[in-house]
Amino acid sequence: MRPISVYIHIPFCRTKCLYCDFASVPANHDSVAAYMRALHTDAERQLASLASQGRSLATLYIGGGTPTVVPPADLAALLTVCLNSMPVEPDIEVTVEANPGTVTRDTLARLRDAGANRLSLGVQSLSDDLLQALGRTHTATQAHQAITDAHAVGFSDLSADLIYGIPGQSPDRFEADLRELARRGLPHLSAYALTYEEGTPLRRARDAGRIAPMSEEDEAWCFARAGHVLAEYGLDRYEVSNFARPGAECRHNLTYWRRGEYLGLGAAAHSFIAGRRWWNARQHDDYVRCVTDGVSYQEGSEEITPENAWTEAIMLGLRLREGIALDTLEGPPGGTAEPPIWSKGYSLQQRGLLELADGRLRLTTKGLLVADAVTLELVS
Ligand code: SF4
Repeated sequence: MRPISVYIHIPFCRTKCLYCDFASVPANHDSVAAYMRALHTDAERQLASLASQGRSLATLYIGGGTPTVVPPADLAALLTVCLNSMPVEPDIEVTVEANPGTVTRDTLARLRDAGANRLSLGVQSLSDDLLQALGRTHTATQAHQAITDAHAVGFSDLSADLIYGIPGQSPDRFEADLRELARRGLPHLSAYALTYEEGTPLRRARDAGRIAPMSEEDEAWCFARAGHVLAEYGLDRYEVSNFARPGAECRHNLTYWRRGEYLGLGAAAHSFIAGRRWWNARQHDDYVRCVTDGVSYQEGSEEITPENAWTEAIMLGLRLREGIALDTLEGPPGGTAEPPIWSKGYSLQQRGLLELADGRLRLTTKGLLVADAVTLELVS
């Protein structure tokens, strides 16, 4: 059996957050019901097909959107059909994303009983005014309650997302949130800088001068501080934005960064198998119609050329603290014996952004802060 990961996208949320440009729409009962029926059918077919190709399920990740706006019975049924439609690895990781305010202790117990063993909570902040600034629908009290409930029903593998750079947030308040969540014993945290995506209300507010973004210096401070603070609690940065106790890293996301194979089900989900990448119809009703009619819902695809594979390996691998094993990086196909990456890499090393040790190429702590710029310089 060859292990594979499966991602399932739930494109519904209670309302749209002010900074969000993800594939998500406000939930309504009929759309959610039709979508879940289609997903159920699709998951059964596609996972049985993977099983017939000798694949076993290593990680399953239900993300969104907000999966927990779906009725718990439907979410549990989806987990059950996935876990019963193909062989599963003995140490399978099954993650469900959830937002505080959309879960109760009963909901979480139901997900656990259906096979979920990891929960990722969209906490974002532990201050109500900052949650409101983001357009989130939950409160800090609900975030604390969700953690309490998750622990109570046995989710020891628990993660929380935090955002820094929120208008009105001081670096000290961000640090206080990090400490609070680490003190509550979470073995995994993700900390992302707020981005002002085109077309979002937050972007318009910034462009109109109605809100003042955090300064670049303060954002850089938050990025660096997260590493120092969480290390005090035994959580190491293993990816640019992700921290975990040893062994608590998200294996599903590691599959993406290490260019492992995965199947994506649901609207807007992406897949990568046998050197080919494809993506599904973005609109949830298009996806439902295609599944119901038994026709393909692929919206596009690309064969990953050796050149692209090489670039991807660098761009994804350098996000990880472990970096990239040099013996897997032979240089772009058709390149010279001395591909330009080595001279660029040398220059980045001299500037303290990249390091070469134990046969691996990786970003330094300073390099992680400007990871996108460094990788771009390396592959361009
Ligand atoms: S909960 Fe997440 S996916 Fe849903 S609107 Fe907010 S940011 Fe977007």
